Amino acid sequence: MSAVRVKVAVRARPMNHRENELKSECVVQVKGNQIFLLPPPSHKEDHMKVKKEFTFDHCFLTVDENHAGQEEVFSVLGSELVDNVFKGFNACIFAYGQTGSGKSFSMMGTDEQPGLIPMISSELFKREHNSRQLRVEVSFMEIYNEKVRDLLQSKENQKTLKVRESKQFGPYVEGLSHHTVSNYENINCLVLKANKHRTTAATNMNDVSSRSHAIFSITVSQIHINHSTGSTRELTGKISLVDLAGSERVSKTGAEGEHLKESKNINKSLTALGRVIFALSEGKASYVNYRDSVLTWLLKNNLGGNSKTVMLATISPAADNYHETLSTLTYADSAK
Ligand code: ADP
Repeated sequence: MSAVRVKVAVRARPMNHRENELKSECVVQVKGNQIFLLPPPSHKEDHMKVKKEFTFDHCFLTVDENHAGQEEVFSVLGSELVDNVFKGFNACIFAYGQTGSGKSFSMMGTDEQPGLIPMISSELFKREHNSRQLRVEVSFMEIYNEKVRDLLQSKENQKTLKVRESKQFGPYVEGLSHHTVSNYENINCLVLKANKHRTTAATNMNDVSSRSHAIFSITVSQIHINHSTGSTRELTGKISLVDLAGSERVSKTGAEGEHLKESKNINKSLTALGRVIFALSEGKASYVNYRDSVLTWLLKNNLGGNSKTVMLATISPAADNYHETLSTLTYADSAK
């Protein structure tokens, strides 16, 4: 099997309030599709003395609203996936990075600055035209501690769902709700509901940080009708948009007890994801063990094969986060 190209992009957010207060220096520079990580001011280790250079498919450095804003990220990464899903391909975008680096901002965004999920959802309905019938279905789940929950079920009906694998359709979540939607507003309502259900727990790094993977999936089926013969043909593609749990190291968040278990599970699934993506980019998909983690197992049909994979690595520009940024860039680099 030939290598599957994984598109890898990096996005650096602006300095946040805390980093500005600390007067942390900016250690990230972007030139075209190259990104440089500069030596931080007080470096202790030798390897940190050298400027590090990485090349990705795209590098976004958000300086202000006019630079690398949500629109630009959508037009570079999202728009093409909408084209592909209409051609019957599967696609997947992952947001990978430490907590607070901009994963949710990139995937979900805010009311004023909507991210990839709302922009892709709204674009889908703009592409509709009369020659076909369109059926759009969404689901939204969370993987927390290797357990799957349906984010679109009311709290009372929520339980851990089982992952199963069918010969015909591959892995699926038994009992996951699928919602047929006919316009962008329908999707938006479901997304708002799901966001309220996401699991969050306090860590030392952030008051509320995300310790779970959230997978939003949109399945688009088009029924083509041949008017002269009356026959119909169905073409289906699925986009999965994944907001991964924070990639920070266990030691930095001071995890203990239940949090340590969470962190181990996060590490396990992010490592498994890295292995899968690396194997795909090396053309060794047949050696991939998707069942190493629930995340990779569930995304089996959205990784490799006829599917397009995009990784968006999000980073902080501040010297204070040097180690995490280097680890994110190294992870993203191995996915190319
Ligand atoms: P994560 O999901 O990785 O934990 P968030 O997406 O919640 O991080 O981002 C942390 C904060 O930084 C949020 O307040 C968010 O609005 C802001 N932020 C992140 N990325 C950007 C960006 N590219 N431009 C402007 N603000 C951003």
